[in-house]
Formats: sequence, C-alpha cells, structure tokens
Amino acid sequence: MDVSARIEAVYAQIVRRNSGEAEFHQAAREVLQNLGPVLSAHPEYLEARIVERLCEPERQVIFRVPWVDDHGVVQVNRGFRVEFNSALGPYKGGLRFHPSVNLGIVKFLGFEQIFKNALTGLAIGGGKGGADFDPKGRSQAEIMRFCQSFMTELHRHLGEHTDIPAGDIGVGGREIGYLFGQYKRLTNRFEAGVLTGKGLGWGGSHARTEATGYGTVHFAQEMLRTRGQDLADRRVVVSGSGNVAVYAIEKVHALGGRVVACSDSGGYVVDDDGIDLELLKEIKENRRARLSAYAEVRPTATHSVRGSVFDVPCDIALPCATQNELDDQHAVALVKNGTLAVAEGANMPCTPAAVEILREAGVLFGPGKAANAGGVATSALEMRQNASRDSWPFERTASALATVMSDVHTLCRTTADRFGDPDDYALGANAAGFLRVAEAMDAHGVI
Ligand code: GLU
Repeated sequence: MDVSARIEAVYAQIVRRNSGEAEFHQAAREVLQNLGPVLSAHPEYLEARIVERLCEPERQVIFRVPWVDDHGVVQVNRGFRVEFNSALGPYKGGLRFHPSVNLGIVKFLGFEQIFKNALTGLAIGGGKGGADFDPKGRSQAEIMRFCQSFMTELHRHLGEHTDIPAGDIGVGGREIGYLFGQYKRLTNRFEAGVLTGKGLGWGGSHARTEATGYGTVHFAQEMLRTRGQDLADRRVVVSGSGNVAVYAIEKVHALGGRVVACSDSGGYVVDDDGIDLELLKEIKENRRARLSAYAEVRPTATHSVRGSVFDVPCDIALPCATQNELDDQHAVALVKNGTLAVAEGANMPCTPAAVEILREAGVLFGPGKAANAGGVATSALEMRQNASRDSWPFERTASALATVMSDVHTLCRTTADRFGDPDDYALGANAAGFLRVAEAMDAHGVI
C-alpha cells in the first residue's frame, strides 16, 4: 500500500471509530494531509504504525458531575478528560467549561495539543478535558461547587508526573483555584505541579496569564519579519475578548500596532482610536459583562451585531475566540481588505476552506498549534518552577516565552522548507510536531 492510501485508510478508520465527532475528524484530516512526504522519508514509522497509534487516545475518561445549584436543585453535567499521548511527557492541556463541550470537541483539542506541545520542545504530552457546564450566569458559590464535584472524580487520574490540566474557555484563575483546593483536600498533598495557571501566591508563574496572547503576537511578528515587515503602525483585528484576546491586544499595543476591533458572542466593537485595554479588562474580567458595555462608555467606539469582526479592514487578524469562527466568507473579506497575516490565538478558529483561501492569496497563516503554543509553553515553565520550588521574576519568564515562540517559528519554517514551501507554516507545524512524537513513540516500542 502506498503512503497516501495508508493515510486515507487511517482517516477512514478515524471517521468510523469516532462517529459524529466532526471537529476531531477535521483536526485529524488537517494533520494527516501533511504527513505524506514525512512518512515517505520515514518508512520505519509506517512499519511501526505510528500514525494509527497516534490517532487513538491512550485513555478517555467520561464522568458524571453532580452538583446542587443556589436554588437547591440538583444539576448533572458530563465531565471529560482525554489523555491522548504521553510519548514526550505527562499529559498536558487545559480544561474547557462550555455548553458545547462533548467528546469530539475534547478529542480535537487533545489531538491538537499533542503537536502543539511537541513544538515547544518542552517535555509535555498531550491531553484535554472539560465539561458541558455553562458558567454564564452562575454565582461564585455555584462555580465553586461545580469545580469541587468535577475534581472529586478527576483527581484520581491526575498527578504532576501523570496528567496536568490548566485553563481553557470558561476556566481561568478562579476555577483553577477551586480545582486545586479540592485536589489538595482529597489527596492531602500540596502538589503544586498538578495544575498550571495557579495564583502567583501559591505556585503560579509570572506571565502565565499573559502567555497565550503575548505568544500569538510574537509569532505574528516573526512571520511579518520574514517579509521585512513588523507590527508597528499596523491595524489589527482580534476576535474574542477573553484571556487570549486581552493579552494579544496588550502585546500588539506594546509593539506599536493598533487593535481597532474585538468581539464576544454577542457582537463586536470597532474603535478606531485603538481598544482601551483598561476599560476592556474592567468590563470583561472584573464585571464579567457584555462587550456592548464598552461602546456605551467609550465615545470613539461602535458596537455591532451585524456581519463579523473580520469584515473590519485590517493588516493583521488574530482569531482568539473559538474553533471554526473564521470561515471562507471571512477569509474572502480579509483578502479583499489586503490583510497580510493571520495568526490563530484560539484552537482551530479558521475553517479548512478559509485556510485554503488565505494560502492561495499569499496571506501569511500561523496555525494555532504553533501560534498559540505560548500558553502551554509557559505552563511547562510553571511546572519547572514548581519542581524546583522556585519562582522566576516576570522578565525571566516573559523572555523565555519569547525565545520559545521564536524557536517554534524557526522550526516550522525550516521543517516546511524541508518538505515543501517555507511559508507553509501548517505543513511545518504538523511535520515537526509529528516527527518529535513519532521518534519517541518508536523508541518506546509497541505500547
Ligand atoms: N488551553 C491552553 C491551550 O490550548 C493551555 C493548556 C495548558 O496550559 O496546559 O494550549
């Protein structure tokens, strides 16, 4: 059987075995379509059936999360942890609390995480988890009880050398605090390295909160540099207004660019004077309110529910909200408006059709598994500080993050060049991530 027939057979098996899990199929296809030249250069990985093994999670945990709401009513959610691959280190990846969470979503995120984590060059395997719990409108006490119930089941699967969750959509510092507290209580161990994204006073790392957004902007800057350009004076559009978006905006402004629009699930704001970050943080982080509140107090801003944030003309677009938010229509609008680069701060925010349109138009495209690797990389730095009972200053961590992002960028380019076109960052990220994991899996034998 030739290489492409083997890859097609693997994909067909994925679709059969994981029926209805559209996002997982999409994420797998996106990687598999780049593996032809890699496997042709490494027939030993075909022989060892590395791809077949890589696409099957090592372990999947699904569990009931019962809790009592503020009205005394019993609620039942479903919790997940997909421990996908531990060839390079313990399973590592965030937890997502969102009503859309199901096994397919967690599997797609876990699959992406394997390659992303490999690209960082740090010793972390890939995993992901979460629950179909909707934190919107829930009180602090309800969130705490949910987190405690979730961890009561999950704790038996975790450990600083086994599986280390962190945040993702719907899980930030507050939730990590409740999850850590319950883990500590159940195990009677202050095992700092079992979760990342912790508070600075109890084992957290400086720059972890900022890391995903900052890292995405570093990556965009590196891509622009290959064309003799940079972010100074550029118009930037960011989708989302959560943790990734906020710190992407902060870094763009620090590098002299101007973010003129951002969004949430209720619409988007355009502010030609540049997004006022303090106001945005006050609204989204402190008040946990809708973005429309931003335009109510900022005279230069308008709020819109029609069209999309990607219709706003920009030089650089940073999709930082969620999967499949930037489709072919949006890509056409970006190309028409002369956008130079798109870097994914979220996981798989661009649809395959959108990626194709951007690539054909010569728009630089940084795939999430490379462009948003700064978050998990800084989690690995947090684990390093926990293991040595040390705490690094902000500057040391932030500069280590910048180095990791620049190394990821270089690795993607050189690997893409080896197997095709150096500007094809998706090819570079998939091939380089795969090679690191495949080498370790092959060395470990058939397990
Ligand atoms: N959820 C983040 C991601 O998508 C961070 C994971 C982590 O820090 O473990 O990479």
